[in-house]
Amino acid sequence: MDAPDFASRRGSVAVDVGGVIVGGGHPIVVQSMTNTDTADADATAIQVARLAHAGSELVRITVNNEAAAAAVPVIVQKVRGLGVDVPVVGDFHYNGHKLLTEYPEAAKALAKYRINPGNVGSGRHHDDHFEAIVRVAIQNEKPVRIGVNWGSLDQAVLAELMDANARLQEPREARQVMIEAMVESALRSAELAEATGLGHDQIILSAKVSGVHDLVDVYRRLAVRCDYPLHLGLTEAGMGMKGIVASTAGLSILLGEGIGDTIRVSITPEPLGDRTEEVAVAQQVLQSLGLRSFMPQVSSCPGCGRTTSTYFQELARDIQNYLRDQMPLWRERHPGVEELRVAVMGCVVNGPGESKHADIGISLPGTFEEPVAPVFIDGALDRTLRGDHIVAEFEAILDQYVERRFPSPGHGASQTQ
Ligand code: SF4
Repeated sequence: MDAPDFASRRGSVAVDVGGVIVGGGHPIVVQSMTNTDTADADATAIQVARLAHAGSELVRITVNNEAAAAAVPVIVQKVRGLGVDVPVVGDFHYNGHKLLTEYPEAAKALAKYRINPGNVGSGRHHDDHFEAIVRVAIQNEKPVRIGVNWGSLDQAVLAELMDANARLQEPREARQVMIEAMVESALRSAELAEATGLGHDQIILSAKVSGVHDLVDVYRRLAVRCDYPLHLGLTEAGMGMKGIVASTAGLSILLGEGIGDTIRVSITPEPLGDRTEEVAVAQQVLQSLGLRSFMPQVSSCPGCGRTTSTYFQELARDIQNYLRDQMPLWRERHPGVEELRVAVMGCVVNGPGESKHADIGISLPGTFEEPVAPVFIDGALDRTLRGDHIVAEFEAILDQYVERRFPSPGHGASQTQ
């Protein structure tokens, strides 16, 4: 795969979020959000650490009440105690101005504040509350994300644009006005933040909707009207496959156009499900688009009538799981291993060809044949595995290949001494 050309991405300014740089042509940042009760500092710290271990480079927690605000510094301390240095971001709605001013330790511990301009207050309170949050950010030298969401869109901006639209000779569709209102809400809020004294390079924008077409429209407009880094994500994307596919569809269009500096995949987990799934999906979107590499990629065919037993599916699953399980160790010891390409194929039709295109590949022969599996390394047939231990033997071959192709820096140094 050619190295992604990050320098060609849209020219957004770089924002430092607790040491993680968002925008400015830096690699697109993966982020996620906890779903624990923030007041439960233990549970939240553990989930923050899990999300970070899964690869989340920023983790957001909701700060919704006084108990949550009081817990924030404790959570950050516990996360650091677990050996995790991920920046923790605070998500504020309605009472952010109060919580951030009354809990200065929380304001200090957080790496960034998310403000939703649609619910900071209405009428004369709107700007006061917004400015109060921004002043805390200035005092603490923190960036903010101005996060517009169509479910809580600033009604004053929407009403103003709707009224103006109604006066046009040919009024636009309500959907177009809503999208424009989201863009206006984000840009006007950024203008107010800068007028209050926040730096241009301390602002990230987002404008999330739950429909793919709307998402693409709103971010295309934002991208041409400002150079703030953009946080992408389909909000309320849904559960399971629907949420994953819809998020991938929307993110891929925008990322393919060079729009977006950080992403979050907002899928609803199963009850008691694994929250880290959203991180895995975000990583896979970026890796599939060739924008970043996180773990070895396995190409496996779908199987067909030529793979009537479950042997092939088990082989593909076991190898995928093996690679995933090895990654924490390999990442440390074998820099670059995330670029590894593995093929696991069902039969001779495409198996040898696909295996030759991968760094290392294995192909079964097809239906009713003995488990006989040629292994290809760097495009050439290396050996043929037979019998009952094909998976274990292939894993050993993978280990040897990784050792040789991605030597650990320490190992290389000792060899040259
Ligand atoms: S490689 Fe073979 S088993 Fe896999 S889908 Fe193609 S024909 Fe079917």
